[in-house]
Amino acid sequence: MTECIETGWISSEGPFINRFENEFAVKVGRKYAIAVANGSLALDAAMMALDLEPGSEVIMPSFTIISCAAAIVRAGCVPVVVDADPLTWNMDANQIESRITPRTKAIMVVHIYGLPCDMDAVMAIAHKHGLRVIEDAAEAHGQVCAGQACGSFGDLSIFSFYPNKHVTTGEGGMILTDSVVLADKCRGLRNLCFMPERRFVHEALGWNMRMTNMQAALGVAQLERLDEFVQRKRNMGRLYTELLADVPGIQLPLAATGYAQNIYWVYGMVLDESLNFDAKEAMRRLSEAGVGTRPFFWPMHEQPVLRRMGWFAQTHCPVAERIARRGFYIPSGLALKEEQIRTVAKVVREVIR
Ligand SMILES: *Cc1c(COP(=O)(O)O)cnc(C)c1O
Repeated sequence: MTECIETGWISSEGPFINRFENEFAVKVGRKYAIAVANGSLALDAAMMALDLEPGSEVIMPSFTIISCAAAIVRAGCVPVVVDADPLTWNMDANQIESRITPRTKAIMVVHIYGLPCDMDAVMAIAHKHGLRVIEDAAEAHGQVCAGQACGSFGDLSIFSFYPNKHVTTGEGGMILTDSVVLADKCRGLRNLCFMPERRFVHEALGWNMRMTNMQAALGVAQLERLDEFVQRKRNMGRLYTELLADVPGIQLPLAATGYAQNIYWVYGMVLDESLNFDAKEAMRRLSEAGVGTRPFFWPMHEQPVLRRMGWFAQTHCPVAERIARRGFYIPSGLALKEEQIRTVAKVVREVIR
């Protein structure tokens, strides 16, 4: 970052952009990487690059961040949601096929909280029905699914570099693809669709989604430490599980599935229905005891803004609805010390009891 300032290369024109893109592409085993200003815009660009016919349906999890639905809607498409698996909290791949109609054109898959979605199942369905796939790996830096890097599945993948992600650039995002056509489209969309032949003449409307050289410099340094960060998050997750495993009435994150080991992007928990208080109350009590928490995602089919657009009136996703109300996550930032983890676990134990 000092180098950026001393050389004067502070904008998106500087050399760290290419370096960060190339190193990130190598890390996840993709041909092309396009650095952008944040992960939400990466989703917007990915959806726009697919150029789906207006009104096309895109299947996505209900239990995720609004950025996923927003990108689908802004691209003129219709979000169709699938409920979460009660154990992994990921989109339940077994329910995808029942949502496919003749208008379905793509699946947007999201790895939730550090445990990947079952990509073998998702990719098989996509191939069978000729659907495009966008992979949101914003919570899965350094994660692998059945031996293959998260961020390498489907037509386009995206990452976020927000400070709570495993690699951060303050704000930032990345789009990855193996298609030169999609990569070129994303680069155009990132930079106002300027045309190389005649600047200030435009065939399409883009955005300014550019990342700065200073952010990319930070990204390059962060990427060097990704494996270490993931190892530390795994250790934190394991320690929490060890300390909380015998607390009755709470469901903890799965340590592993048949295809992946959890990297615990966040350490979530879901209160059993047998407890007579919900996540909001548990979070209030934890806050009183000095422990910060965050609520789980709120389901897309319960979002007022999407309901007002006329969608989801008949949609029910009982798992997403339950975990949204009974789930929250506890501190797991990389700055946390073992002693603090032990204190948090002790407070959680007392509050739940
Ligand atoms: C963080 C996140 C995003 C959005 O990234 P920003 O950089 O914050 O815009 C998108 N999808 C998922 C699953 C995320 O966790």
